[in-house]
Amino acid sequence: MKKILVTGGAGFIGANLCKRLVEEGNQVYCLDNFCTGSREHVFGKLIEHDVIEPIDPSQFENGLDEIYNLACPASPPHYQRDPIFTTKTSVFGALNVLELAKKFDARVLQSSTSEVYGEPLENPQNENYRGNVNCHGIRACYDESKRCAESIFFDYHRMHGTKIKVIRIFNTYGEMMDANDGRVVSNFITQALAGKDLTIYGDGSQTRSICYVEDLVEGIIRMMRSPEDFLGPVNLGNPEEYSVKDLAEKIKQLTKSESKLVYRELPSDDPTQRRPDISLAKSKLNWQPRIDSTTGLQKTIKYFSEVLNR
Ligand code: NAD
Ligand code: UDP
Repeated sequence: MKKILVTGGAGFIGANLCKRLVEEGNQVYCLDNFCTGSREHVFGKLIEHDVIEPIDPSQFENGLDEIYNLACPASPPHYQRDPIFTTKTSVFGALNVLELAKKFDARVLQSSTSEVYGEPLENPQNENYRGNVNCHGIRACYDESKRCAESIFFDYHRMHGTKIKVIRIFNTYGEMMDANDGRVVSNFITQALAGKDLTIYGDGSQTRSICYVEDLVEGIIRMMRSPEDFLGPVNLGNPEEYSVKDLAEKIKQLTKSESKLVYRELPSDDPTQRRPDISLAKSKLNWQPRIDSTTGLQKTIKYFSEVLNR
């Protein structure tokens, strides 16, 4: 049994991770300020706190073995609502979890993102690609603060020997996603189930690669438990790549919906392509996604129909 802290534990990925860690018999602390998370999705002992502020170590009487740092709004409408808060969350949050890890000599994992690649000029993206981010655009609060957090993680490792792990997560979907958080899979499924138009931004030719959350959680845990000298960054995602339009058609078909596809303005700096090269995760973690998008989307559609019919 390990003593584990998950920041952002009440969010979509955090809740799925905490659930799994609790089921394994660990002592789990779920730290969250509920800016996008849900009180219904708390697994483990709740610590209501904002990671922008230092985390009091005295509340972990017996120390901590592992810290997963997931706290950060992740959907574009949410992280753009208060961009300064988003930047502070990533940057001060990284500093605060690293201080805690240093104190307890705990392993600490940073959930970075494919957004560090910005508008990628290579497809698929591997970890050596340095990215192409617009540092003053509307996505910069997220992209640049996540890049800065990676840099702080590696500096703590170099300066203090902190046991860090860095993962770059690509678009993920599944149970416990918030129906209203504005991401493409949750929007299309809830729209299709309600018989509303599916809103495609731009012409729908931009691509995303979508990973089912259970696969992602397995990859996150494997990374945390990997040999100490493997720091990352490592991509975690499913290389199955769809255009947004094809994804809309697929969800329409799986939900047997009569909804129409409608076209809306493309937000600025929306990346045109995104697909992970997962060779490193395969070789270092022996990890690759097991659940294909049809199966994963069917499970997610079932989840949303139950939530929407409550
Ligand atoms: P989410 O918005 O569902 O969850 C984020 C959680 O963090 C929420 O519970 C929220 O209340 C909490 N939080 C936000 N700011 C906080 C703060 N200052 N203090 C304390 N708690 C705070 O998002 P998610 O999809 O679960 O993403 C989790 C992590 O994974 C994020 O760090 C995100 O950047 C990363 N990520 C997610 C995806 C994805 O496709 N879901 C892709 C790449 C990276
Ligand atoms: N998108 C869309 N319709 C929606 C929501 C999103 O066409 O209702 C597009 C969005 O413009 C982007 C892609 O779907 O090209 C993925 O968007 P999401 O917000 O899920 O994540 P992102 O990868 O952009 O952070």
